[in-house]
Amino acid sequence: MTFQKLAEYFAQLELTSSRNAMVEILSRLFGEAEASEIDKVVYLTQGRVAPLYEPVEFGMAEKMILRALELAFGVGVGKATEIFKKNGDLGEAARDLSNKINKNKKNNKKTVTEVFMELLRIAQSGGEGSVEKKIGILSGLLQESDPLSAKYIARIPVDKMRLGFSDMTVLEGLSWMMDKTKGNKPAMEAVYNIRPDLGYIAKQVRAVIKAGKKQALASIEEIKPVTGTPLLPMRAERAASPDDILENTGGRCAIEPKVDGLRTQLHIKRAQRWGLKAGSCEVRLYSRGLENVTGMYPDLVAAAEKEIACEDVILDGEAIGYNPQSGKFLPFQETVQRKRKYDIESFSKNVPLKLIVFDCLYLNGRSLINEPYTVRRKEVEKLLRKENTIQPAEMHIVNDAAEIEKLFHAALAKNLEGIMAKKLDGVYQAGARGWNWIKYKKSYESKLADTIDAVVMGYDYGQGKRSKFGVGAFLVGVYDKKEDSFKTISKIGTGLTDEEWQELAARGKGLAVSEKPKNYNVNKTMGCDVWLRPKLVGEFKADELTKSPMHTAGLALRFPRLVRWREKNPEDTTSTKEMEAIFKLQAK
Ligand code: AMP
Repeated sequence: MTFQKLAEYFAQLELTSSRNAMVEILSRLFGEAEASEIDKVVYLTQGRVAPLYEPVEFGMAEKMILRALELAFGVGVGKATEIFKKNGDLGEAARDLSNKINKNKKNNKKTVTEVFMELLRIAQSGGEGSVEKKIGILSGLLQESDPLSAKYIARIPVDKMRLGFSDMTVLEGLSWMMDKTKGNKPAMEAVYNIRPDLGYIAKQVRAVIKAGKKQALASIEEIKPVTGTPLLPMRAERAASPDDILENTGGRCAIEPKVDGLRTQLHIKRAQRWGLKAGSCEVRLYSRGLENVTGMYPDLVAAAEKEIACEDVILDGEAIGYNPQSGKFLPFQETVQRKRKYDIESFSKNVPLKLIVFDCLYLNGRSLINEPYTVRRKEVEKLLRKENTIQPAEMHIVNDAAEIEKLFHAALAKNLEGIMAKKLDGVYQAGARGWNWIKYKKSYESKLADTIDAVVMGYDYGQGKRSKFGVGAFLVGVYDKKEDSFKTISKIGTGLTDEEWQELAARGKGLAVSEKPKNYNVNKTMGCDVWLRPKLVGEFKADELTKSPMHTAGLALRFPRLVRWREKNPEDTTSTKEMEAIFKLQAK
């Protein structure tokens, strides 16, 4: 497929706001792409040259793109900036300039693979002189492109594709390609949860689609977890009391402390699989949002190499800071300092980590996710020792509410958040929130015991005291997976400190877009002066949830306040479904 053809599809996708139309366009695009290039097509629709969890970044700022434009089209310094300022869109600026120079490049034969490889080269160039190198490659690409291709090529390195859909819509597009229905999506989602590499999944389907839908589905069902690809983490339901826990676990369950740190998936891969020297292993760590965080925690990597036998294994756990003198765990605010890109060495000395492992998902070629909790727990115990940096979570099997209450208070006394109950025969439901895991947290005085994670969708300019920050009130919303859209739950104008307002204003600056994103579902009365693309996630506390006709989620936060900004994917905010569940729990 030529990149020009792909750019035409991008243009169609950009023009439509109907989700069904997007799914249909994507299915045509996927059907037209060859099996050998469909993975690249999928990554490019997301403005990427690798799956989302790979740490492949372009490292280009807007200014660098503008320079590449000036170089490509031989216009004077400042010219591209001038056009960009006028229309506020790098892509349109690229198209304008290209139109003047490359108008005749009607039939551009450059293939998707060729453009992809050049973009990948940009992402991979680092070190001294890399700024010039990146600009050079991009300007070469732009120069050889037709105007429409130039528009999208200029947007990709700055993550501004603006196509308005996420992974779920891509899965629906693949489903539609099979039989013109969305009916295959649950099967696709099930594999996505254990191997969230859309390019890989698309390739599997595309390779056998000619043999029919049955073949395609069978080929996906064969997909298993692999080391080096993070699984979507499993989440827990909430319980209102120990009785509630027992009722939902069949009267007997395991209780573990609920550690408030950073969810971390540990992958160890043996030599032969990753092309390493015989006898050696490679360790990778992933965050809850599937970010590759290996470089952030050299202490955990070293501990894994030393403490765990060299196996092919995937473990799930929580990394938490501790005080080496007292051995006590540190509060979240201290642990979270370890999530950083600089000063890693000194912080790993000041805030050493332990990894508390509560699950084993894969071991030496065997997926364990469909095994019962007890079987997975046994593997954790076989692999790890209590006295080590990487250690098994404490665990008690109980069948009595008083015993649960006791363990709960013991956890609180250790400064922990509460407890987690696990159904003994429960499987690991990757990417899902289910009753196989139940959290029971310290209850607060307000009716709403839990916090809500929501994404900042836009803001209004400030008046009065806050005009100095440029933000007066901001609109927050949660993700509706079924509709792949964000629905509002509150417009917040109080409850932030001056620093938090400042941070919001600073972070908002880089996320502003000229129009309301297509997958925002907002009531007319809740419009914003400035719209932001979905990226900034906050954790909010409120007195309670109330029914609301103004907010499209149908529920709203009463007296909301910000607890902290969070490193989370926008699709990973509290879902609309969970909001309903919390609303019901409130009444208990
Ligand atoms: P949630 O993700 O909101 O369902 O809350 C559960 C979170 O608690 C998980 O994502 C983990 O980060 C954290 N956690 C702490 N201790 C445990 C444990 N023993 N088992 C499972 N999750 C735990």
